[in-house]
Amino acid sequence: MAQQRLRAVVTGGASGIGLATARLLSDGGAAVAVLDLHAGDVPAPLLGIRADVADDESVRAAVRSAVDALGGLDILVNNAGIGAVGTVADNPDDQWRRVLEVNLLGAVRTTRAALPHLRGSRHAAIVNTCSFVALTGVPGRALYAASKGALHALTLAMAADHVTEGIRVNCVNPGTVDTPWVDRLLDRADDPAAERARLRARQPTGRLVTADEVAAAICYLASPAAGSVTGTALAVDGGIHGLRLPAD
Ligand code: NAD
Repeated sequence: MAQQRLRAVVTGGASGIGLATARLLSDGGAAVAVLDLHAGDVPAPLLGIRADVADDESVRAAVRSAVDALGGLDILVNNAGIGAVGTVADNPDDQWRRVLEVNLLGAVRTTRAALPHLRGSRHAAIVNTCSFVALTGVPGRALYAASKGALHALTLAMAADHVTEGIRVNCVNPGTVDTPWVDRLLDRADDPAAERARLRARQPTGRLVTADEVAAAICYLASPAAGSVTGTALAVDGGIHGLRLPAD
């Protein structure tokens, strides 16, 4: 019997982890729409749809277009995110609101728009991209950590709310991933090469995570093979959260 082609929406899929995820889903046979501020950068056969996850009307219109084009929806990957550095004292309220608007409420809006369509799927799955900083105290990341910690908690709450509807909800917690995001971070460092070496050394594996490694974890959680996996977080972080190595 022919298997039905899965249909997926990936937010923030024009770059980095989202692009790697959209490509891997597509390579695996899924029809994939990418919702991103920079939808024009999205390569075929991925369908790029411009959306700002911080704007509810934009998200609703983009999800509607995606569902029309794909003929339904099975998988939602809430991956769009922005960074922030500083302690609680360093960022004014409007910066807190901006980051929470994208990293937390962005996932809320996209999920709200997608849920009616996911309910029509036999393999419905949502995967949220969180971060190891949701679970690990890292200096100078108060706002970003709060946004990802809230998304992590939301993942569990959503998993509980929708389990009886057959919709699974999980998240990935990446470590430091070699994407344009990290390039931008390094551009701002006094000594980019030394900062890259520090980020590498911070990971017990001694190297940065690749976007393809995170994509593989997201695709597993989104796949029917993970049919009994819901309400869980998969660390793809080179051991930075779970391991404590003896100092030499
Ligand atoms: P990236 O900057 O390469 O890609 C982020 C994408 O999100 C971009 O295409 C950007 O246009 C899109 N985007 C940003 N704001 C948006 C908005 N308001 N509406 C729609 N699209 C928007 O970054 P990345 O490293 O691939 O990060 C992807 C996700 O992974 C983020 O949620 C980030 O917090 C998370 N993450 C990244 C790392 C890392 O080290 N790179 C580690 C842990 C978690």
